[in-house]
Amino acid sequence: MVKVPCKLVTWDDVVNWCKALADKIRESGWIPDVVVAIARGGFVPARLICDYLGIVDLLSVKVEHWIEAATMSPQARIKYEYTIDLTGKKVLIVDDIADTGDSIILTKEFIEKNWKPAEIKVATMQWISSVCKIKPDYYVDEVKEWIWYQYPWTRLEDTTQFIKRFLKEMKDKKVWTYDEIVNTFKEWYGIDVGEWFYKRALEELVKKGVLRKVDDKYEVISV
Ligand code: AMP
Repeated sequence: MVKVPCKLVTWDDVVNWCKALADKIRESGWIPDVVVAIARGGFVPARLICDYLGIVDLLSVKVEHWIEAATMSPQARIKYEYTIDLTGKKVLIVDDIADTGDSIILTKEFIEKNWKPAEIKVATMQWISSVCKIKPDYYVDEVKEWIWYQYPWTRLEDTTQFIKRFLKEMKDKKVWTYDEIVNTFKEWYGIDVGEWFYKRALEELVKKGVLRKVDDKYEVISV
């Protein structure tokens, strides 16, 4: 049974969503002067949107909120604050997904107060309307039931954390085969990320001292 509902997002999905987003922005007649990517999830969409709208000024604000995949830390915060003058400029904040909306709200307030632009709008590929505290000005998918979007730029990070999570919850099982780990991953998350990611994630967990490789099996050391 799936424990954390996930959608495996492909690079093609991302390109198509960003094309749709750029079309929506263009059709609205509002073209930004500056794009601000919320790091790290907004980087790829923001870069594509700059290309599709012909925008050269791309900046970023680093927000920490979901430090571990599908596990929220209590409060979003901006790391590395800096001040620039955007007087008179139209700013588009871009993120991959608006989930709680906290990262976007925080970034918007920070830019309004410190960078003083003329106007700010927000674009995301996904908007989880059932839980989000704000509605982006532009979005592609309205998501009604919460799901974890497994974007291609967090595949190894998510795979590593997802494996660690079930090892922790099933901590009575001390020794695993590779196949058992892969099958449990598929059962829990309902997606298959492929051998390269499973193997690299397991190497990472060995490196971190979570697992020890004994012959062709994995022994749980500390989770
Ligand atoms: P939030 O502040 O809750 O709107 O989300 C902050 C960031 O965490 C997002 O920009 C994503 O990079 C990541 N994130 C949050 N929720 C999800 C989700 N359901 N699926 C994938 N990534 C997510």
